[in-house]
Amino acid sequence: ISSRLPDVGTSIFTVMSKMALDHGAINLSQGFPDFSIDRKIIDLVHRYMLEDHNQYAPMPGAVALRQAIAGVIQKTYGHAVDADTEITVTPGATEAIFSIIAAFIHAGDEVLLFDPSYDSYDPAIRLNGGVPVHLHLRQPDFSIDWDDVRSRITKRTRMIMINTPHNPTGAVLTEHDLRTLESIALEHNLLVLSDEVYERLIYDGVAHQSVLRYPALAAQSLAVFSFGKTFHATGWKVGYAVGPAALMSEVRKAHQFIAFSVNTPVQLALAEYLKTPEHYETLGNFYQQKRDFFLDQIKGSSFEPRACRGSYFQLVSYRNISSQPDVAMAEELTKKFKVAAIPVSVFYHDKTDNRLLRFCFAKKEETLAQACNILRKL
Ligand code: PMP
Ligand code: GLN
Repeated sequence: ISSRLPDVGTSIFTVMSKMALDHGAINLSQGFPDFSIDRKIIDLVHRYMLEDHNQYAPMPGAVALRQAIAGVIQKTYGHAVDADTEITVTPGATEAIFSIIAAFIHAGDEVLLFDPSYDSYDPAIRLNGGVPVHLHLRQPDFSIDWDDVRSRITKRTRMIMINTPHNPTGAVLTEHDLRTLESIALEHNLLVLSDEVYERLIYDGVAHQSVLRYPALAAQSLAVFSFGKTFHATGWKVGYAVGPAALMSEVRKAHQFIAFSVNTPVQLALAEYLKTPEHYETLGNFYQQKRDFFLDQIKGSSFEPRACRGSYFQLVSYRNISSQPDVAMAEELTKKFKVAAIPVSVFYHDKTDNRLLRFCFAKKEETLAQACNILRKL
């Protein structure tokens, strides 16, 4: 048997979460909340299950949920989307990303992506016969070098992938970035895959720059979102893709054979839950408090936090503590000091190691305080 992904092992998130469990470490590695989700939405799922909504949902998603999403998008980004043809509900953003790539990438097509990049992007491109072209975000702020982008476009370039707010760096794209992207995408007729799963986790009064805010850009883009992030329910695996009807009909061709549809009672519950704006509009404040708490707690330590303007991840440099590679540092921190983090080099195709660790602050204050008590002693 010849592997299609010979260089791929178990995902770092699985590796570090297991290491944390095996060694009794506080797990700030894999991105997921350690607190309960809202009881109201659990009750809604229960209600729809009891009311017999337990069979296949429509392939593109429950109608009520697509309508609710269209309403939220209109309100948030001032962008009118047709719930029938321009939204597809998917089992997490991961499947949306895979289906979009499967729908448009032909053998040998090049896809531009920026390292550090989320772990599913590169394998999704390669499994579909595409060629990932890894660019680096600029240090120290992890911004995009648009001249570099221009210089890497070839006749084979078909797609560019962006992620804002960004995992793992917490960087966010600006209006200038989106306008530059728009002009490049239009000039070279590129599709844009915009991973916006952390759209609401954005801090310090900064507005999220969705591709959906820019009509000419939106006409060539597919944006992906995740209820796992928005409602603290990563285990539910429900997300969605948004894009123009002509593109979305292609995405649905792939989606219908990869997943077909998403579990029905959860979709109906989400549709109902979305009717109350405060369920999602308060999220930025909620996580900003956690970020600020974490930053405050880590202050007295030798770890140096980098800027984080969004997502629920905080990068820290450990140069003042150790010079060992980040993978070894993460392992030592987990096994010896009992705090688990993610080494950032794993998000680089060329394994660039800037001696940075990623901590997830989507945790109870007591969890963050316990972890920082340890980190301050290093
Ligand atoms: N993109 C990014 C940047 C993510 O951080 C995640 C979740 N970790 C995903 C996509 C996948 O989201 P989901 O769990 O909804 O598949
Ligand atoms: N997105 C999560 C993170 O970055 C992990 C998701 C996963 O385990 N696949 O930590």
